[in-house]
Amino acid sequence: MIWFICPNCGESHTLKEFRDSHFCKKCGKLMTYKNRVDSENSPRTEIKFSTSELRFTELFPYEPYPEQLEFMKDAESAILEKRVLVAEACNGFGKTACALASALSFGRKIIYATRTHEQVRQVLHEVQQINRKAGTMFSAVALASRQNLCLNDVCRRLPMFEAVEACRVLRETRRCPYKTKFNPSDLRLSLILSTEKMILHGRKKRLCPYFLSRAAAKDSTVVVAPYQYIFNEAIRVKVGLEISGKILIFDEAHNADKIGQEVLSDTLSERGLNNAKRELDLLDRSSYFIDRLLDYLESHVSEKPAVKSGSELFEDLEIFLDEDLSFLVDFYMPVVDEIREYKLSEGQVPVCYLNGLLNFLSLVGSSERDSYVAIYRRSKSGLKMIEYRCLDPSLAIKPVIKEAYSALIMSGTLSPMDYFTEILGLSEVKCRTYSAIARPENVHAYVDTSISTRFKERNEETLRIYGERIAKLVKKIPNGVLIFFPQRALMNQALEVWLRSGFVKKKGKDLFLGGKRVFEEGRSARENARIVKEYKQAAKTDNGAVLLAVFRGRNSEGSNFPYEEARGIFNVGLPYADYKDPFVKAQIEYLNRKKPRLGNLWYIMDAFRAANQALGRGIRHRDDWCRFYLMDRRYATHRRFISKWAVENGMEKISLS
Ligand code: SF4
Repeated sequence: MIWFICPNCGESHTLKEFRDSHFCKKCGKLMTYKNRVDSENSPRTEIKFSTSELRFTELFPYEPYPEQLEFMKDAESAILEKRVLVAEACNGFGKTACALASALSFGRKIIYATRTHEQVRQVLHEVQQINRKAGTMFSAVALASRQNLCLNDVCRRLPMFEAVEACRVLRETRRCPYKTKFNPSDLRLSLILSTEKMILHGRKKRLCPYFLSRAAAKDSTVVVAPYQYIFNEAIRVKVGLEISGKILIFDEAHNADKIGQEVLSDTLSERGLNNAKRELDLLDRSSYFIDRLLDYLESHVSEKPAVKSGSELFEDLEIFLDEDLSFLVDFYMPVVDEIREYKLSEGQVPVCYLNGLLNFLSLVGSSERDSYVAIYRRSKSGLKMIEYRCLDPSLAIKPVIKEAYSALIMSGTLSPMDYFTEILGLSEVKCRTYSAIARPENVHAYVDTSISTRFKERNEETLRIYGERIAKLVKKIPNGVLIFFPQRALMNQALEVWLRSGFVKKKGKDLFLGGKRVFEEGRSARENARIVKEYKQAAKTDNGAVLLAVFRGRNSEGSNFPYEEARGIFNVGLPYADYKDPFVKAQIEYLNRKKPRLGNLWYIMDAFRAANQALGRGIRHRDDWCRFYLMDRRYATHRRFISKWAVENGMEKISLS
């Protein structure tokens, strides 16, 4: 008879029990096929297993570099001590495989937070590689929203929270033909479940891929989920994502603070209010409170944005509505379902605007209002709105970290890590920064301290000087060159000045800088993909190519330009956020109140994070090389904000001769 013995506590499991769940029924430790024993009787008392049966070295699917071994050892000891490791390692380091190998060796369930589809693919690929190399049977599944997994046209196009409710109504009224209840172990699913696989399976078997992913997640060793799922308690409850006792891995965590804040923020708009009013009118319900809210918007939103504290907004609303917010929410909540059902019966999409409005009021009523700001402004299309925005990322991040068994927080751009962890509200964490995976001599940074794009200095002459210097340097760099600008407007202005000054030359329809053909980042994803493809082809030729792009844009984060695709990267200036923006101001003031100067440091860190991200595009492999040109004196004055891997080989001044 086949038994599976828990390597931690020795509990025995039948084959069926093992197939139903690979986690020990007694202690929760993961079992693999290595724990199989053939014996007539239950062998639980006879066999002893070591808790460190699988080491990360056995799991890591590649020949590890010393830096990778260092990272895996640090991750292992952090998990062993149930602590948090904050790790900065450059693009192409192999962070995903390292983190997975370390965490999987503990036999615990892992929740892996990702931001992009590309990252999800990468995580699933690395789990597959680990299984291949180590002969393990780790399972992994990607959780995604209904927008990605739903097969019902009515529901799929709705925003996330609307889709949740619409799906419920569709199921309750039997308007969705896809099965939602099943036992994943009866379905012969593959170990690694991507969204594409689940959709295929769902179509073939008439099963809902969204519910399939949730069911599969219960027993999967690795659950890959968007950041929003992890930070939002309501979503976690809905999808049954338990953090307690799990190892959390946050990948590309440099924006974790912003995502956390977004998850805890909401907006009240004139359009949403009018739509909700129409819904109540349809059902002959009183919409008096919505009229009052419209009056409030009318009297408080003007051309110039205005700011109030979260508490002031709360008091205003209760006075204006002459009602307790929580009472109002409870009173109108049952109407939400009536509206959805009415719309469905009329053949309409069951989206409910009243629900969105009640969620906003509920957030204002229940949140830590001292950590919020209310911004009254007009949308781009001129509609009045109030943004209720969270100023404290620790409200989203701290609770999940506290609940988890251990956490690995990693990115290529977390410097300076002491400020980063302070802003996230994480204390007693282990911070480590790792050398670039490329050979040190392959990464060189140069800084131009005679120039800056500061607003005071931003004029035609400055742009002309930039053009002159960059054109000279570009000539000396082989193949591809990336040039990043703080804003598209500045990029266009620079190009105009460079054309007029003769640094950029026009031949036919094409532009050339330093002898290389110039490409400009596309505005839409599709246009950009086409342009980047052409750029990459041109970069690989002897003539090379130049790509002009913006920080925080499509080409500065999440995309790769290995080898000839980027032999030089120019950072023209620094992408500071708009100081006059009411949210930026409120954020700085809030953090300064928390700790003197913390807000000012956040402001600098935010700009450098984007600048470091841009530099990270150029190095993907150990034998890759790239030159970084930091064209602003502020890079020299704030050197500690530059990621270590970018400047560990020193930072030379650009010679002007
Ligand atoms: S059950 Fe699945 S397919 Fe049907 S509406 Fe809900 S998410 Fe979509």
